[in-house]
Amino acid sequence: MKKILLLGSTGSIGVNTLSVIKEFSEEFEVTGLTVNGNIGLLSEQIEEFHPKTVVVRDAAKAEELKKLLKAPAEVLSGLEGLIEITCRGDYDIFVSSLVGFAGLAPTIEAIKLCKRIALANKETLVAAGEIVTRLCEEYNAELLPIDSEHSAIFQSIVGESKKEIKKLILTASGGPFLNKSVGELKHVTVEEALNHPNWKMGNKITIDSATMMNKGLEVIEAHWLFNLPKERIETLIHPQSIIHSMVEFIDSSIKAQLSLPDMKIPIQYALTYPRRLKSSFVETNFPKIQKLTFFEPDFVKFNCLKLAYEAIGSGGTAPCTLNAANEFAVDLFLKKRIEFLQIPEIIDFALNKIEIKQAPDIETIFENDRRTREYLNKVYN
Ligand code: MG
Repeated sequence: MKKILLLGSTGSIGVNTLSVIKEFSEEFEVTGLTVNGNIGLLSEQIEEFHPKTVVVRDAAKAEELKKLLKAPAEVLSGLEGLIEITCRGDYDIFVSSLVGFAGLAPTIEAIKLCKRIALANKETLVAAGEIVTRLCEEYNAELLPIDSEHSAIFQSIVGESKKEIKKLILTASGGPFLNKSVGELKHVTVEEALNHPNWKMGNKITIDSATMMNKGLEVIEAHWLFNLPKERIETLIHPQSIIHSMVEFIDSSIKAQLSLPDMKIPIQYALTYPRRLKSSFVETNFPKIQKLTFFEPDFVKFNCLKLAYEAIGSGGTAPCTLNAANEFAVDLFLKKRIEFLQIPEIIDFALNKIEIKQAPDIETIFENDRRTREYLNKVYN
């Protein structure tokens, strides 16, 4: 039995992870769950999966949960609780499906305990990829991507030599605004942006998909996970989301991983690697799909994607600034305080204003994240 600590258990990836664990209940056991504030769903999860310890970020909600509990579980709260449950080390696999920069601190603690890290929280690698990948090597911690594109690439290079990779091709659905003009993008609403054609996900990542910043963050994530320069990481629009990404090798062969879109597939692979276990979450029927289409992304319309490539080029703390500014801008957009096209404007502004520091240590990363948000707060609030 492998023990699992699942951070962010009531979000979309968290719920899917629990479905996978339920399917393989003879393989996996849940020892810890953490949530921000959804204690209603958490108490159902506690009854079903019997974790020893849970963490609720919101301290008041944590107290409320203690009164609700029918099954015995220790309840911790706050960021301290999140760090404590991680540092206790009562797990083999650390699954992080937290949203945003908040995932970085606990992930670093899990790496230092040499655990398998199953990472859905891409912002951790975007903000601190150099440090996180270095620490993984130093502590011999396995880092397995849950992001579907990176799982596809990871699955395509099993048994291959990294030296023989020519390039990675990250596929993107293009989101709900693929066929809109820049002019039309000006006045799109929060509701329209939240209406993703292929994937059902949380609000932050769904807006990131609409701006295509999600693909930009994934290019940075791939850059660190697979140790390749940005020039060898291409993005390709593929509206059907059947090919989850591809790897081209130096002999011009291309390998890819395909299936109907279902996050349970990459989650399962990150939990069971290097094995594959029999499951039947989806059935991919090619005659029904009929055709797969591809387009080049429009870097003018989707300026966020261009900014992400530029941030890798600038290096140092630039991707951390990009990420913090994006989280800030998406939050304002979701609160209907800015327009859709102001998201890339705010990120561009932050990248120009916040000084880039090269070869940052982890304190510099935390400081840079804080400084970017404080600065933007002063300007936009
Ligand atoms: Mg993805």
